[in-house]
Amino acid sequence: MTMTTKNPLLKAKRLVLKIGSSLLVNETTGQVKNTWLNALADDILTARERGQQVIIVTSGAVAVGRRALGLPAGKLLLPQKQAAAAVGQIRLAHYYQEVLAERGLKVAQILLTLDDSEDRKRYLNARNTLNTLLDIGAIPVINENDTVATSEIKVGDNDRLAARVAQMASADALVIFSDIEGLYTANPRKDPTAKLIPVVEKLTPEIEAMADGAGSSVGTGGMATKLMAARLCMEAGCDMAIALGSELHPLTRMEKTGKGTWFLADKTPISARKAWIGGAIKPRGTLVLDAGAVKALDKGKSLLPAGIKAVKGSFERGDAVVLEDEKGVFLGKGLTAYNARDAKAIAGKHSDEIESVLGYHGPDEIIHRDDLFTEKRG
Ligand code: GLU
Repeated sequence: MTMTTKNPLLKAKRLVLKIGSSLLVNETTGQVKNTWLNALADDILTARERGQQVIIVTSGAVAVGRRALGLPAGKLLLPQKQAAAAVGQIRLAHYYQEVLAERGLKVAQILLTLDDSEDRKRYLNARNTLNTLLDIGAIPVINENDTVATSEIKVGDNDRLAARVAQMASADALVIFSDIEGLYTANPRKDPTAKLIPVVEKLTPEIEAMADGAGSSVGTGGMATKLMAARLCMEAGCDMAIALGSELHPLTRMEKTGKGTWFLADKTPISARKAWIGGAIKPRGTLVLDAGAVKALDKGKSLLPAGIKAVKGSFERGDAVVLEDEKGVFLGKGLTAYNARDAKAIAGKHSDEIESVLGYHGPDEIIHRDDLFTEKRG
């Protein structure tokens, strides 16, 4: 195990931890494993104390709720699952609130559906809320909004939900705690020669084949969903690890033993985000910039309404827009924080005037620098 395989955990400024149902909930009683959760909370406090921002993506709502409701063992129907999640989620949130507050940490609950990461406006709202919470020092505790999510609008498993959250938050690392040490060359439960793979730098067909063979965890997501999560993360510039979570203090254990499988991204979250904005998203309008705004853009600054000469097209908050200078030269693209009507109203105005013009206090920037892709800077 080399240093590079250990570093992603410690060097991550923003860290997402994914906790599976089987780690957190006693399968037979439906009770939350309090000792384990307290040990995890100690680890989270340690991470916070060394300056890391932490997001938790947790499962367990259905597992807790089904026992509380006395639902039968075995597969549940969708409405039963949704009812179980409604009962379980409130308990789950309560447990996290208790253990983290005991350590002086603030806790926030966020329930997401697939739409929240796919619809641009909702994506931007969720991203802004996450950023605000993290900047305040709170720990967002996230689960899928199972109560309203039917199969069409469900991510389905929290491995992928965690990857989407990591992408949405531009996190540097995601650790998926599982009931297995990581990705093995073969199923370690059947093949004694199976070896743990410490680092994966590319998701090759050989790696995919290993996931097929390697024993999967008891939760919703097996190794295949973990690899899908890894792919999402790597594209978003986020390193991802699969590590054993079943022992007490799983994060500290991971640091000390260096065990687990790291899937390393070859770019940073911000450069991945900029490339995504510059590439795939179809622009819905154009902002024409004055010379001052073009200069600010070159320096890597955010785009303020004061520098906007004209607004073309019809777009919503969160849509991509093209940036041009007054001669019509393409400068880049960005995700706008205002819709076309509001952008027109505040164009050329100082940010202090936004509230009096629009009647609400929106962001000072029309496009934040993290939401900008420019020709020169990328
Ligand atoms: N959202 C589900 C729950 O909290 C779990 C989904 C999963 O385990 O991947 O019960």
